[in-house]
Amino acid sequence: IPTIGVLALQGDVREHTAALEAAGARVVPLRRERELRDVDGVVLPGGESTTIEKLLHVFELFEPLRAALGSGLPAFGSCAGMILLADRVLGGVEGQGSLGGLDITVRRNAFGRQVDSFETDLVVEGVPDSVEDPVRAVFIRAPWVEESGAGVQVLASVGEGPAAGRIVAVRERDVMATSFHPEVTGDLRLHRMFVQIVADRG
Ligand code: GLN
Repeated sequence: IPTIGVLALQGDVREHTAALEAAGARVVPLRRERELRDVDGVVLPGGESTTIEKLLHVFELFEPLRAALGSGLPAFGSCAGMILLADRVLGGVEGQGSLGGLDITVRRNAFGRQVDSFETDLVVEGVPDSVEDPVRAVFIRAPWVEESGAGVQVLASVGEGPAAGRIVAVRERDVMATSFHPEVTGDLRLHRMFVQIVADRG
């Protein structure tokens, strides 16, 4: 059974923990550098990316985590977690940094004020049966992927409405990210996909 560390500084840590456990992983909270040694993969939850970034520095976890991601540690980020995994961030606060690891440019709070929060159904590449049984995607002040590098696989784009065509789920090697929050719907398919990615690395 793979052990997955959920970055437990701020955000929806409990929801990811519950989803990963239900998807068959052993889950440990991740706050300290030494805890990184015991995990086969990490989840970066949604929350507030600037706050999480600050706390990563306070807990002296920023550089170790950046290095681990650089060496290929599998990771899954949702919403603020996607921002933290992005190599490039647009619309951030002055001086906002990211851990990087995913060759994408994200735009923070991209969907605009009128549509701060919304839900839509998505077909997600690699999610079993998502054509017949789409993934219900919950967006909360979400980023979108504005550009992605050649090695990045687009897993899902918004199908309809003003944001149609916007990329909202990606994968590069063993790193996945979603603009939305699969941890809040009870649909475990994306968490299972990540647990499988981690397990396949053996
Ligand atoms: N808007 C938040 C940020 O920029 C992300 C929101 C979320 O994670 N639900 O960090």
